[in-house]
Amino acid sequence: MSRSHTPRRAARAPQSKICVIGAGYVGIPTAGVLASRGHDVVLAERDDYRFEELEKGNLPIVEPGLQELIDEGRIAERIHFVRSAVEGVQDCDFVFLCVPTPQGDDGAADLSYVKEASLEIGPHLAPGCVVINKSTVPVGTADLVARAIGRTDISVVSNPEFLREGTAVADSLHPDRIVVGSNDAHAASAVAELFAGMGGAMVLTDPTTAETIKYASNAFLATKISFVNAMAALCEAVGADIKDLVLGLGFDKRIGFEFLSPGPGWGGSCFPKDTAALVHIGKEHGYEFSLLQGAIDCNVEQIERVTAKIATMAGDLKGATIGVWGVTFKAETDDRRSSPAIAIVRKLVDAGARVRVYDPTLSERDRDAEDLAGVEITSDPFEAARDAKVVALLTEWQMFRWLDHAQVSEVMEVPAIVDARNLLDPDSMKRHGFRYMGIGRS
Ligand code: NAD
Repeated sequence: MSRSHTPRRAARAPQSKICVIGAGYVGIPTAGVLASRGHDVVLAERDDYRFEELEKGNLPIVEPGLQELIDEGRIAERIHFVRSAVEGVQDCDFVFLCVPTPQGDDGAADLSYVKEASLEIGPHLAPGCVVINKSTVPVGTADLVARAIGRTDISVVSNPEFLREGTAVADSLHPDRIVVGSNDAHAASAVAELFAGMGGAMVLTDPTTAETIKYASNAFLATKISFVNAMAALCEAVGADIKDLVLGLGFDKRIGFEFLSPGPGWGGSCFPKDTAALVHIGKEHGYEFSLLQGAIDCNVEQIERVTAKIATMAGDLKGATIGVWGVTFKAETDDRRSSPAIAIVRKLVDAGARVRVYDPTLSERDRDAEDLAGVEITSDPFEAARDAKVVALLTEWQMFRWLDHAQVSEVMEVPAIVDARNLLDPDSMKRHGFRYMGIGRS
């Protein structure tokens, strides 16, 4: 297999018929971008809520700029929605698998959705169709998909996705790199052609390497965050300031500023499961990935450390009202999967605290959500802070920076804040009468 590291050519591939299976945080942007490149896209989603919202012209997830991208595709009649993958794949040149790969009980990726979708579509694929795996999957999954499809005329290509929730549209329209892994040079070049001219480097490789690249990227980024969180703990121990420390680190071009913001720990739908899966892959193949295991352990500690800060501020959590600002795993998304904020909320509830949360993405639909059981959902940040002993700022929504903090201090039982994102100015908060605790600074 030849490897090239520059876009192959700027010209657009001819219009193709493409099915994207799974209308989630990856599938919807993927469908939108492919439609914006002139392709005829069918987005297959079996979940009733997501499908019906899309059919009504709404987005079932929160992602800046995505509504506009999908609206453009819809108006141009280049995006259609169907409930079943079988219906979606009819006559398609390409099929993208964008289905979940959650963490299994042993840490390994659960491939049941990938396998199920592959078995489902196998008999219905058009001859010569290329099936592209965009889900994050362990080594060997391209073969698993090929076996489940069970046809010699169908090629399977690995094309991992690197978009970030919150900036998914820009990331998908202007990727840093596109990774295409296949043992079939013809299929690989057809897939590369779909993304040609988008500006990112093209890395053509074998499926095993493509699958491993995705895990390596997430493992590296998670480790970087764990490193800065560990440095923040050290700063607290020695009396150094993490904000200035990060400046001193980040201006080194070899290090950079990205993923060097201390916080309550990493989370979301990818890092926790992907780091666990990579440690598991290592074990299965006789490699003990102690560096990555250390980053995972450090993350567990960070969630404990932030919870302990809240407990220290409250004096006693039992019976204390704690206001929580932000429950999503980061700002600009409604995704709460493996959110460190939720992990902290659960610990507060377990310790007997009365927890009142505010997050701009919460709606009536969330009142029965399992991860928010026993928690009071409020409609604004002041309401969440009312009568609280401590407010814990857990997600970096910019709105929390610009609130009238004097007014916040008035509604609280005692003005005290744990700023787990270092979003606020400690001096200004102290001027408003708050006791303030950040991460790695006083
Ligand atoms: P998601 O849960 O938001 O969406 C997946 C969708 O697939 C769900 O709506 C589900 O109902 C649908 N689905 C599952 N099986 C189906 C089938 N047979 N037919 C039709 N629909 C089906 O998941 P996501 O966050 O978009 O992630 C998808 C994959 O991409 C995962 O492997 C994930 O690790 C990877 N990934 C995610 C991100 C991210 O930021 N979320 C980034 C890069 C890669």
